[in-house]
Amino acid sequence: MDPSRYFDNAATTPVDPLVVREMVPFLSEHYGNANSVHSAGRRAMAAVELARERVALLLAAEDPSQVVFTSGATEANNWILQAFPNAVVSPFEHSSIREPATQMGLRTLANEEEHLLPLAEDASLLSVMGVNNETGTLWNPQDLKGKARRVHADLTQAAGKLNSDVKDLDFATISAHKFYGPKGVGAIYIRDGYLPPMIIGGGQEQGLRSGTLNVPGIVGMGVAAEIAMERREADFSHAENLRQVVMETLEKVTDVQVNGGSRRSPFILSVSFLGVYGETLVLEADLKGYAMSSGAACSTGSTEPSPVLQAMGIEESWNRGTVRISFGRANMPESAAGLAASLQYSVKKLRTMT
Ligand code: PMP
Repeated sequence: MDPSRYFDNAATTPVDPLVVREMVPFLSEHYGNANSVHSAGRRAMAAVELARERVALLLAAEDPSQVVFTSGATEANNWILQAFPNAVVSPFEHSSIREPATQMGLRTLANEEEHLLPLAEDASLLSVMGVNNETGTLWNPQDLKGKARRVHADLTQAAGKLNSDVKDLDFATISAHKFYGPKGVGAIYIRDGYLPPMIIGGGQEQGLRSGTLNVPGIVGMGVAAEIAMERREADFSHAENLRQVVMETLEKVTDVQVNGGSRRSPFILSVSFLGVYGETLVLEADLKGYAMSSGAACSTGSTEPSPVLQAMGIEESWNRGTVRISFGRANMPESAAGLAASLQYSVKKLRTMT
């Protein structure tokens, strides 16, 4: 795949070569178990602690000990909800919050406005994401302090890109592979140490999440966090520019709408075309060498309309014609223009066929 034509960066990002470079020694010569007392173990643990400091800096956490490594954001999100059987969640959350919330019979806020009401005051926890993974809609969970006893934010699509400051949060969850780190590693921020353990065993991660540490993955996450901080402004304006390039062409298409309201991340563009199927557009684009998505990667393959778009009030006829274009460092204005032209062509062709 030509990386400049990969427009599915909300699903995952390519691992930065500098991240790979720092990870490799921990897959080869530095293979010690981070919990061993000998020097090989201590070498590995030192690298883990450096990564913890880097992730703490990315989140602007007060202390690195507030960061606990996990296998990713899904695990971290499940963990949080399991600990708060009386939680209240927003209706726009990722499936790793939405599904456990449904299974646990948790209360879901009916709409965004309700966040402003003292509805969740009795709740043990209020969980609201920072950036929606399907539409890029921005919320400010940091402003919800005091709306419930504790506030959790899924910052998976925000960390390394936008505001992921945890100052006013009790919990936050992030994932390395969304900001050019490796897959299968993430972290949870725990402000005051209150959270029952997720996995019990050898007592790693302050006894909260046992299991031999994924040293190469954790190292990679730390490096990716550091690079993301350095590049944040450049990455942001790059994404804004690419979004603009795509929109210049898509604005010429009839019966098209951009989803997600007025406050959106520039990294994610959700567009609906009336009278076509998002999945068909994704396959057509793939044939031309472009990668994008028709929704969240985790629910792709399902023909059901997106529940998140549904909760945002997007009608079925628009919902099914939705594609998500998500921008990243490797995309170029030329490839963004190419993708938009290809989409414009496919929409026109598919509409005349029906
Ligand atoms: N939350 C959000 C908002 C996401 O976009 C994702 C990834 N699709 C996750 C959680 C799950 O992260 P992971 O892939 O690390 O399990």
